[in-house]
Amino acid sequence: MLTRKGGKGIIKNRMKIGIMGGTFDPIHIGHLVAAEEARAVFGLDKVIFVPNYQPPHKPGVPITDPEHRYAMVLLSIYTNPYFEVSRIEIERGGPSYAIDTVREFKKLYPEAEVYFITGADAIAEILSWKEGKEILQLCKFIAVTRPGYDIERVKEKLRPLDDKVEFLKITEINISSTEIRKRVREGKPIKYLVLDTVENYIYKHGLYSGGK
Ligand code: ATP
Ligand code: MG
Repeated sequence: MLTRKGGKGIIKNRMKIGIMGGTFDPIHIGHLVAAEEARAVFGLDKVIFVPNYQPPHKPGVPITDPEHRYAMVLLSIYTNPYFEVSRIEIERGGPSYAIDTVREFKKLYPEAEVYFITGADAIAEILSWKEGKEILQLCKFIAVTRPGYDIERVKEKLRPLDDKVEFLKITEINISSTEIRKRVREGKPIKYLVLDTVENYIYKHGLYSGGK
């Protein structure tokens, strides 16, 4: 976007990009509401969903094939003109470190301001992430509220990083992918907790009905 300043030179408003990382096994309405509210409040030009290949904080935990998880993200986001999905971590393979992803996006969008969107549970662990301090220098974080996680305690823990993390109170959706997987396994409905397209995909491919 170009704006004229004082009728003279043209200055460029920096594009704002949100990165929404996650395992998305499967993607649910909690992820979508978090991304959309962060986008609206911070005026992000787009939010890019980045499904992990291998989440580094879940070693040894069996996860669904990345192609299924990617497909379900795509099926959830295509109706929102501000949302995109990236295969960057899937193509890179190996453990999906956020620092590598942020560095890649900074190369792809050198002019942009990058925001990393997380839930309150994930931000609480930021300092244990690979190069946690470095990542805070590269981008801002938007930490959204999540039921079951005391945002005030997280704020206290991260007080030294006050200027790096923006806390955002959102409409809280008490759902997790773990709960969705459990409900499918137990034959309980998941309708309205995931989008219809994702519900159909899960049943069509028989996901989560095994021992996971
Ligand atoms: P799992 O139960 O498998 O860990 P999850 O529901 O926590 O799944 P993730 O893919 O681990 O989903 O999370 C990706 C990101 O989305 C994280 O930053 C997480 O904090 C955030 N997130 C997930 N669910 C919610 C929710 N209901 N409200 C707000 N943020 C959420
Ligand atoms: Mg999680």
